[in-house]
Amino acid sequence: MQLDSPIEYLKGVGPARGDLLKAELKIFNFKDLLFHFPFRYVDRTQFQLIKDLDTEGMIVQIKGILIDFELVKGKHQSRLAALFKDESGFLELVWFKGVKWVQKTLKAGEQYIIFGKLNIYKGKKSIAHPELELIQGSTDSIRKGLDPVYPSTEKLTSKGLDSKGIRNIISNLIKELKAIELEENLPEYLVKKLKLLPRFKAIQSIHFPSDTTVQKAAEMRLKFEELFYLQLFLLHNKKNRHLFIKGHTFEKVGDYFNRFYHENLKFELTAAQKRVIKEIRADMGSSHQMNRLLQGDVGSGKTIVGLLCMLIALDNGFQSCLMAPTEILAMQHYKGIKKMVEGLGIRIAFLSGSIKGNTRKETLKMLKEGDIHIIIGTHALIEDPVVFKNLGFAITDEQHRFGVMQRAKLWAKSKVFPPHILVMTATPIPRTLAMTIYGDLDVSIIDEMPPGRKEVKTIHRTDTHRPQIIAFMHQQIESGRQIYVVFPLIEESETLDLQNLQMGYEQLLQHFPPQKFQISVVHGRMKAAEKDFEMDRFVKGITQIMVATTVIEVGVNVPNASVMVIENSERFGLSQLHQLRGRVGRGADQSYCLLVSSYKLSHEARKRIDTMVRTNNGFEIAEADMELRGAGNIYGTQQSGQMDFRIANLATDQKILQTARHIANQILDIDPELKSPQNLKLKDQIKHMKKFKHNLDRIS
Ligand code: ADP
Ligand code: MG
Repeated sequence: MQLDSPIEYLKGVGPARGDLLKAELKIFNFKDLLFHFPFRYVDRTQFQLIKDLDTEGMIVQIKGILIDFELVKGKHQSRLAALFKDESGFLELVWFKGVKWVQKTLKAGEQYIIFGKLNIYKGKKSIAHPELELIQGSTDSIRKGLDPVYPSTEKLTSKGLDSKGIRNIISNLIKELKAIELEENLPEYLVKKLKLLPRFKAIQSIHFPSDTTVQKAAEMRLKFEELFYLQLFLLHNKKNRHLFIKGHTFEKVGDYFNRFYHENLKFELTAAQKRVIKEIRADMGSSHQMNRLLQGDVGSGKTIVGLLCMLIALDNGFQSCLMAPTEILAMQHYKGIKKMVEGLGIRIAFLSGSIKGNTRKETLKMLKEGDIHIIIGTHALIEDPVVFKNLGFAITDEQHRFGVMQRAKLWAKSKVFPPHILVMTATPIPRTLAMTIYGDLDVSIIDEMPPGRKEVKTIHRTDTHRPQIIAFMHQQIESGRQIYVVFPLIEESETLDLQNLQMGYEQLLQHFPPQKFQISVVHGRMKAAEKDFEMDRFVKGITQIMVATTVIEVGVNVPNASVMVIENSERFGLSQLHQLRGRVGRGADQSYCLLVSSYKLSHEARKRIDTMVRTNNGFEIAEADMELRGAGNIYGTQQSGQMDFRIANLATDQKILQTARHIANQILDIDPELKSPQNLKLKDQIKHMKKFKHNLDRIS
């Protein structure tokens, strides 16, 4: 059997179903079908009784009879409601989507197995959008063991390829398949050492496990394989870069650093900052190019770390640059850093798209001749006309706004060796995700806040509290503070959202009349210059309130702003909420974050808001975010190549991932280029991945 045979040639498929499998599930050949895994199993010996179901949100599997169903017309949307019964009681099943189709397929009076998440509302039990399986006759229902349940789609189902139909064609395929046709892709010694199921056996058992133990072993083997190869790939890149790409060696710490440290630095560094600087110094002194990610929550003090490292570069005779995603941020960095290094004779320049004419010419000339030590700016820094005399160190702040290509350009700015690169991000990400997305970067983490910070108080209020919210805002403004009011902007409903913002603005005008108060408005549809103008007025304290969409999310620093009001907060994602909250709490005053939402909240929205109220810890929030949304959605489109797992799940498979990374590291320590015969399979696989995942070969 040829595993790359087109899927339509498989027994039970044919051209029509074949086309659908391709279009709907991206199953093109036999092999793709083999790797279309069940997403759960039905253990046909285990059912709960309706009377015992007592916990909201619990996952239930019940066998019973579908008594009746009806379409209930609602104001906005109709729903299909069905009454279901087992020997112990009744339960309601409801559908809000795909109602017509479900209605067509349901059969009153028949036996079903249902599976889903329990809701209890005022004592009434229900399940929304349950999975249903019709039990036909007696033979089907008494089969022992675990039955696989497969993802399918409405169109496939209508052609007989529901979960059961898919199960049948996979069963046909596996019966015909011989062990030799599905080659082992891990070296023998690894399979032995880790007691993994052989690949063929794992594939057989993931589809048709004889019991839970075998099913778990198959799952484990396939997850390991997936995670291991990605880690091997990333670490292979990293190791080989370390081994073969030379970098500038910064041998000493000199006057600039020392004078700054002893004369200019107003505060004691936190232990975390000191540790991170040590890590960076070790890299920069090692004669290999540094590629390091610096993670630290908003306000944890990344800038000073970056600055101290730029001073080390300077002490070794090299130029540095710091690149920020917006003009405002870059300008803030420029002003802040210029002030911090006052009196040390360090020449700092600023460059952005708006620096034109002679100033620009002059700046570029000085940069080229080495008369500028540190340059701070926007994307303008990576444009072609920008030439350095000797760029030794480059920092990008808030990396998620910088694409790989932009970092690559930065890399090319240095002629002899690539500059050391430090990527700073304030978006904490879960460990497992970091290992996957940044698996080829070295990571430093600042996990400690400077002392004396007052934690932002986070409070959840519903629309009905509007008068109190306004009163609170008045009180804060009277005591000299400034306030952000943020509205969501989600692309699908952009027009509507802008209306919301406009209405919100007009409402605020009534409570804060222009004779006495000044309000800035900033949103994504404004021209950059207008935006900057409005932001600037707020930064300078001319306006008391800043009404904005999420454009202010990244980095703005206005220490006097102590209140963040987030409207429609139920519509924001967790990391966005956290970023927004990070805009306040930067001064000496107690700061507040008011999460305003409608009264009724979905389960998930409530969890998000509760998480925000409960904790200020970015890493905790990141973990919660991943649990709620799944890893793929967090960095979704941007990094999809690295997130496309068939079976592994970063939220739940931390242990396997850690093992996989550990083993990959061990192998590469001994055999960095995978030259030994026993690692031949690994080498082939990496080569193959390089071909198809070249976009993963990140440059940052
Ligand atoms: P972020 O990590 O969000 O970029 P910043 O670097 O902007 O944070 O630092 C936030 C503020 O904290 C700045 O005003 C900075 O001067 C101050 N800061 C940084 N480190 C310390 C420290 N160790 N002790 C006191 N204040 C600090
Ligand atoms: Mg910062």
